[in-house]
Amino acid sequence: MKPQKSASLVASAVNLITAQRLGRRVCSECKEPEDIPKQALIEAGVAPEEVDQYVCQRGTGCSVCNDTGYKGRVGIYQVMPMFEEIREMVLAGANTAEIKRESMRLGVKTMRQSALLKLKEGVTSFEEVLRCTVADD
Ligand SMILES: [Zn+2]
Repeated sequence: MKPQKSASLVASAVNLITAQRLGRRVCSECKEPEDIPKQALIEAGVAPEEVDQYVCQRGTGCSVCNDTGYKGRVGIYQVMPMFEEIREMVLAGANTAEIKRESMRLGVKTMRQSALLKLKEGVTSFEEVLRCTVADD
């Protein structure tokens, strides 16, 4: 299939694009606050003005989680509706970097940002955010 033809098909047929990764869930039986330096949170992608809202949690290990500190998984999602702006860019043959930049401008969260929300909610640990996602993905 010619590239132009497939771009046209993608632009017309796709309504939503999602990606998912599974992170480990902090064990609720042995979770306790973990003191992560503010600078480390900022380097991981937390906005400086939001850093005080983060009370990180980690599991210390118990019989329920086999001393791993984790029990179960949590889905980390990236969701991008096929915005009209993106549809037009696909049709015009825009490259991945251009589409990514525009989708961020339109408010699509990165995998890392989604993982940081799970950290903020105390669902997963800082270690797990760094393990599952990279700074700019
Ligand atoms: Zn536990």
